[in-house]
Amino acid sequence: MASASNAGRLPDGRRSLLIGGITPFSTVDWPGKLACVAFLAGCPWRCPYCQNHLLQSFGAATQTDEDLFAFLDQRRGLLDGVVFSGGEPLAQEATIDAARRAREMGFEVGLHTCGGYPERLERILPHIDWVGIDVKAPWAKYDSVTLARGTGKLAQASLDAILDAGVAMEARTTWHPALLTSDDIAAIGQDLAARGVRTWAVQAYRHQGTTGELPNETVYPSDTPTGIAELFESFEFRRA
Ligand code: SF4
Repeated sequence: MASASNAGRLPDGRRSLLIGGITPFSTVDWPGKLACVAFLAGCPWRCPYCQNHLLQSFGAATQTDEDLFAFLDQRRGLLDGVVFSGGEPLAQEATIDAARRAREMGFEVGLHTCGGYPERLERILPHIDWVGIDVKAPWAKYDSVTLARGTGKLAQASLDAILDAGVAMEARTTWHPALLTSDDIAAIGQDLAARGVRTWAVQAYRHQGTTGELPNETVYPSDTPTGIAELFESFEFRRA
């Protein structure tokens, strides 16, 4: 296993992937698939409900490409695919190459993204089979959830790129009652449906695993605005 101090450059000069951890088997990170999950280090946003806040720093990396591909080599025929998650996988340029390489090995490739890197997303889309993209707020309200600037525009461009490419996708929205009102949820749902999104999941805020900066409150399926689920081919309320 490569150490964090090796994480940076590969012998051929390419920048290696900075990986915070690898989950060997998951059935929940890519609906319908048995996949391993590579949690990549680094994210420029600071959503207060982040479940992986320790991975926001690139310095959280403990593994590299070599570890991931050695692992995948042993799992040929045993897994459907690999999901690149994080952190934000597209905070690293090297994720594009890693997706291409994983596919060449015969794995399907999934991606979790916040949508913060639309240009990289456009370049990785030809190499992936499925995307789960966060839609964190109505576009105009985005920065109040991500605690970063200009994020709504980036996320909107990313969502449009996925829809234009026609890659299988799921949009998902984490709902904390202090961040999003019921009207916000309705507005997000209407916007997504109008853009042609067919699969949307609303995820109730889960306090465990966060920094604890938000009050420990959540929402329930009965809080879902009336008529919004019917706008989608597939709608799921995920409980905390
Ligand atoms: S975009 Fe994702 S990884 Fe980054 S801070 Fe928000 S929830 Fe955490």
